[in-house]
Amino acid sequence: MVAPVGVLALQGDFEAHGRMLDALGVPFFFVRKAPELDRAGALIVPGGESTTMWKLLRQENLVEPLAAFGRRRPIFGTCAGAILLATSVTHPDQEGLGLMDIAVERNAYGRQVDSRVVTVWPEPEFEDRTEPGELEAVFIRAPIIRSVGHEVTVLARYNGDPVLVEQGQHMAATFHPELTDDPRVHRLFLARLAVSTA
Ligand code: GLN
Repeated sequence: MVAPVGVLALQGDFEAHGRMLDALGVPFFFVRKAPELDRAGALIVPGGESTTMWKLLRQENLVEPLAAFGRRRPIFGTCAGAILLATSVTHPDQEGLGLMDIAVERNAYGRQVDSRVVTVWPEPEFEDRTEPGELEAVFIRAPIIRSVGHEVTVLARYNGDPVLVEQGQHMAATFHPELTDDPRVHRLFLARLAVSTA
């Protein structure tokens, strides 16, 4: 049996991820305490406000358990979630879980363009494993991934910058696939579930 997906629900748009998982018929539950991680086959860290989320992670003693979870099981971070997974966080500097070798600059598109929806053409590495075709990317006070380590694969770019990346079992998006009706990004992540719990 495949273990359910945990969705970190301390802050942010965790309910939107829940709706996407519901639409895909994937069992999931919201994670608020460290012991709940034991039941999860994979974890989604939603968008929201990464400074607030980091504070709450500390408060709930979840930082170490999350890092340990990430050494065993897949994690998908969207926007603030991507920031939490990173090895380097700037603007302002912030700690990260260091699970993905990416350097992110927060709120990097500037105030004038806080939020926008753009069309992104995925890289062949994405299209080969899902159905091909453009992705609608919803950016909300998004970070920019300024550099990636050599173990990171870029699955989609916008303006030349990586916006969807994977490293081993983990994935990160600087946009919000959970706010569209397109399930391909989640499906790509969920394919790891069967593999990692087999
Ligand atoms: N700007 C937020 C941060 O720095 C991320 C925004 C989001 O998750 N939509 O944490």
